[in-house]
This record gives sequence, C-alpha cells and structure tokens, in this order.
Amino acid sequence: MYLDYFPYPSLRLHQDRMLDAVYDTVSSGDHGIIMIDAPTGTGKTSSISAALAARPGKIVVAVRTVSQIDIYIDEISRIWSKTRHKPEIAYMVGKQKICPLEREFRGESVYAGCARLREWSRNYVSSRIAKGSSSIYDPASDSMPEEEPGYRTFCPHYLKSREGFELNGAVHFRRSGRALDVVESLKKRPISPSQLAESCQGICPYEIMSLYAKDADIVIMNYSHLFSPDFQDIIFQWLEMDSEKVTLIIDEAHNLGDAVRDMNSRILSMRMIDLAETEVEKFEGTLGQARLDESRERASWRREGIRIIRLLLPRLKKFLESKQQRMAEGEALLDADLFRSFIYADLDDIEEALSNFSDVAVAVADLNLAEGDRENLQGEIQPSLALVLLFLNDIERAEKDDSYQSKIAVSGSGGKRQARLEVNNIDPAANIRRITDNINATIMLSGTFSPLEAYELYLLGVENRAKKLSLPNPFPRENRLILGTRKATTQLEVREDADNREEISGHIRSLIE
Ligand code: SF4
Repeated sequence: MYLDYFPYPSLRLHQDRMLDAVYDTVSSGDHGIIMIDAPTGTGKTSSISAALAARPGKIVVAVRTVSQIDIYIDEISRIWSKTRHKPEIAYMVGKQKICPLEREFRGESVYAGCARLREWSRNYVSSRIAKGSSSIYDPASDSMPEEEPGYRTFCPHYLKSREGFELNGAVHFRRSGRALDVVESLKKRPISPSQLAESCQGICPYEIMSLYAKDADIVIMNYSHLFSPDFQDIIFQWLEMDSEKVTLIIDEAHNLGDAVRDMNSRILSMRMIDLAETEVEKFEGTLGQARLDESRERASWRREGIRIIRLLLPRLKKFLESKQQRMAEGEALLDADLFRSFIYADLDDIEEALSNFSDVAVAVADLNLAEGDRENLQGEIQPSLALVLLFLNDIERAEKDDSYQSKIAVSGSGGKRQARLEVNNIDPAANIRRITDNINATIMLSGTFSPLEAYELYLLGVENRAKKLSLPNPFPRENRLILGTRKATTQLEVREDADNREEISGHIRSLIE
C-alpha cells in the first residue's frame, strides 16, 4: 500500500490514521473530499505518499506561497532517495519570482515587459528567416547579439526556447530541441525554485516549467491557478489534464475560503479606465480612418463598439469622480439601479451594448494592443478594456447571485482621495466546488482547521459533503507552553515585514536563552 512510498523509518503518532484516510479517499475517487485538521508535528506533508500510492492520474498541490513549494520538493526528494519510486514534480511560479530579466523592467510590470520582449523576439526570428537561406530558425545555431540589460530588443532566454519555421508564407513556432532536452534533464532529480534558473541552461525557466508541468506526476501551483476565474476554465486544458483523474491536495486549507473570495472579486479603478482609453486610441490608430470609413456592413461592429466604449468609459470616470469628491472615506454598498441608470442612460439594450464592447476588447487582444499588468496562462496581457467589461458583467451578476456584493470604496493618502468600485465574492463555496465536484478527490490539509464543521460550511456550502479527520496534538501536554505576544503575528500579509520578523525571532531567542 502507501508504505511503499513512505520515506521514513517509522510512522509518527496518529500519522497512520491520516494516511489511511487519504489513501481511502483517493482510491475511492467519486469526487470525494477529506478535510484534515492535523497540528504541527503530525507529518501532514507525507499525505502525498498515500496520494501517490492511490492516485489514478496527476496530483495537483495547491499552495498559497512559494515557500510551501520547497517543503514538497524536500518530501519528494526523500521519496526518491528512500524508496524505489521517482515521481516527477513540476511547479508553476509567477514570472516575478523566476524571470532572469525581472530587475531590468523599469516603469512596467514583469508581465508587460515579458509580453513586449516575446513579441519582439518573434519579430526577430521572422526577420532572421526572411533574411536567411533556411526556412527554419534554430536558436542553437544563431549567434545572438549581446544586448545591454534594460535596453533589449528581444529576450535571449525566450529565443532559446523556440524554433521558428516558415510554412505557407507564415512563420510558426515550436519548442526548441534544447528546451526539450532541459525538460528531460529535470526528470533526473527534483529541483527547487531557487535552483531552477541554473538548471535551465539559459532558457526561460517559466517556459521550461510550463512544458514540464504537462508530463509531471505532481504539479504544484498557486491557489489562483485553480480557483481564479481568469485561469480556472483553461488550466485543465492547458496542462492536458483529465479532470476525473486529478487528485488535489490543498495545503494550508484554512486560507482557501478567503483566498478564493479575493480572487473572485473585481475592482474598477481610475487607472484601469485610463489604460482602457489608451487601448481604444491605439485600436483606432491601428485601424486608421480609412478602415473605420469602410462599408457599413463590414465596419458596423467596430464603429458601434468604439461608440459604446467612448460613451461608457467617460461615464464610469464621472461616476468615480463624483464619489471621490462627495463620499466620506470608507465603504458603502453600491446602488446598482442608480449605477445602471447613470452608466447606460440612452442605451436601449445593455446586453447588445456590452457585446459590441466585447468585440473591440477581443480585437485589442488579437492585435496585441493591451495595456495593463495582468496576464493569462499563455502569458498574454489581459486588455484593460476586457477587465472593465468583466467588471460591468460582474455588477450584473451580483444583482442575481447572493454570493456577490457590489460596493464603492473611497480611501485617502497624502491628501489625495481615490474611489474604486468593487464586486466582492462573499461566499466562496460555489467557486471551490466547481473544482472539487469535478475531480477524482480532494485532500484539504491544515494545522488550524478547527472546528472542521464550520470550515466545511464556509468552503463547501453544505454539511456532510466531506469526510473529516481531526488529529490530536502529538506533543505530550507537559512539553507544551502557550504564550501570547502583543505585536508579533504570523498573518500572511505581514510575514515578510522586517520588524515583525525581528519581533518573532527576538521572542524565540529569549525563550531559548
Ligand atoms: S520570456 Fe521568460 S526570461 Fe524572457 S522576459 Fe519572459 S519570463 Fe523573462
């Protein structure tokens, strides 16, 4: 059974109960869920041994922070060295953590900078093919010019990950032979995020991991890859995963509800509207007046879309400005009827108006005119026009769906006030169950998951959907001491705060001394 995957000489107190429960849930499948409250010291991470033994397919581990990845890499390394099994493990980490050029992007996000360099890299390949005698561009045989950091016209790491080839007059791209070789080399041992760049032989680590994740037995990813509306619908397809065979381990699952609510909430700020206006201007510039004047039939959707956008964006700005000036700092529920009558005044059919808006947002994405700092799984920047549109759709949804709530928030700093609109997800259960009800099995782990019944209602929305297991503290009572501090906290938002860390380490030092 699972002991074949278990990399330790013996089981800890109560650990067999936990591993038995995980093994049963994963092998029974049928969209089963087990929620485990296991205090520090019970060996929660070893649940992956039981999941590996029982799984019908890929294991996905959802974590909230990058530091949790190393804990799983260590556990899998132990399985490699202490058992006969060698499960392959990949992870998906944000570009801001692993892009080798991250520090070179000034005044733009790593996502926007990366999208720009990738586009320019593809242009570079096309021009090399156009100028050369071969219809194939192989990065291994190209002497790429050295460029000054911060002033690059292509990304050398991206370039090495792709081969370009010409077919029917158009240039297409596929993975380079060297990228595939690097992926094969990663299968020789588990690699932590801090060692990844040096193992990639100059090829973009993000591209390498995206490729490896498709083959690996275990993929670690952020909660957002599974539970954010931006990724949720495409992650299974992108990683070529059969959902019925996926087993999900959710680490630190007491965080899941709040994290899912955050991911499924949207804001609309003045900056987003400004960026959306820039996109429309670029779109009009790209098309040129000549095309805008083309035959009524062919150009009608474009003209109508631009007309609607030119009507709605200034109204949204005006709405925000009036709240900025008149509302006290704080939050208030949004009166959706009032909002709608102001924003959509003179428009007979809101649905049709938003559909025309959407046509232009899609065209902006297709023409690579997006301005913004959020990207999708394929690494494309999401147009701000699309984000504004999604927000408007969510306002409509909040009117019909009790798990959403719309509000206005005004905040101030340095004498300046800023207003924003928000659509907040206040009940995460439906968004969590869109995943858990469609996969083989889910294991939710936490050391602070008590009372489990309350968490079940919060995360899953009903009683008795999950099996529940609460393990006792493995440390003898006489060895335990509970102390409280006034200031130190392990809250995620301030964990990296230097003063807070110093406060915590000071308390630990004084206890040891
Ligand atoms: S392609 Fe990779 S290395 Fe190049 S900018 Fe993007 S993330 Fe960074």
